Amino acid sequence: MTGRLDGKVAMITGAASGIGRRTAERFIAEGARVLLTDIQDGKGEEVARSLGSNAAYRHADVTREEDIAAAVAEAGRRFGPLDILLSNAGIRGQGAAPIEQLDMAAWDRAMNVLLRSVVYGAKHAAAVMKPRRSGSIVNLASAAGLVAGATPHDYSTAKGAVVHFTKGLALELGEFGIRANAVCPGYTITPMVLEGLGIGAQAIEAEPQKVDAAFASVHPIPRVGRVEDIADVIVFLASDEARFVNGQAVGVDGGLSAGAHWSGHRAKMGAIRTALAADGT
Ligand code: NAD
Repeated sequence: MTGRLDGKVAMITGAASGIGRRTAERFIAEGARVLLTDIQDGKGEEVARSLGSNAAYRHADVTREEDIAAAVAEAGRRFGPLDILLSNAGIRGQGAAPIEQLDMAAWDRAMNVLLRSVVYGAKHAAAVMKPRRSGSIVNLASAAGLVAGATPHDYSTAKGAVVHFTKGLALELGEFGIRANAVCPGYTITPMVLEGLGIGAQAIEAEPQKVDAAFASVHPIPRVGRVEDIADVIVFLASDEARFVNGQAVGVDGGLSAGAHWSGHRAKMGAIRTALAADGT
């Protein structure tokens, strides 16, 4: 299907790579005009060029409010007032050190990139959307924002806060016809995840089945997430098809955040039964 975003103006942060990049491609294919922003200027410009005249690139560091304000203004000048904001830019958690060794400067950096950025985006997008009484804000959270323990504290705390902030935003802005939703991916193959695992992209492209097998025990649907999986849901939330969807944190994680693994949990219960039977209790 195409044309689901016909006539819409969108801005995406962190659009040079991974989920942001794939979503920019999908937005353009669906008829939107898109301002891509990032701090990787070479890559961002290249992606925008490849997408044609309905795409443009601008440098915007999401930790700087003035950059976000200027990007929203540029989207307006180039393409018209913003209909869609995707706050997507992100970095990995800043380390899995035990709590007593937490590096607070790294903590602050993670909060700035992962959380403060989303607040800046909403603040400046809402200023444009409110007078027009329409708009869709999509914030990239994570399955790590729904269930704790899988990532460092800074990452899961920031993503949990993005989920909660998005709900508050939806309640406030819904009264003005503006929707706000969060998307919560599971492990998705992007440069961020590859870097965390210390694996090269070529290895993944050469043997995708091997990657799925390696991730089989992580998600209840036994494969790794792909950027298309996430971008498809973002397109839906951004579009008018989701006109009554507001304040939701949508897991796109193969069921990871739904609860305990079915067969894994049963295996554990079996082991408990065996251990207690062996004790005669
Ligand atoms: P990615 O590394 O491919 O893309 C992230 C982009 O954000 C990069 O282009 C990077 O340059 C940009 N960025 C980083 N710091 C920035 C800053 N200060 N200002 C502007 N741009 C900045 O990673 P991705 O996996 O596509 O991540 C996109 C989003 O999805 C992130 O918010 C991430 O936390 C979230 N997410 C990813 C996964 C996953 O498994 N890949 C899972 C859950 C959530």
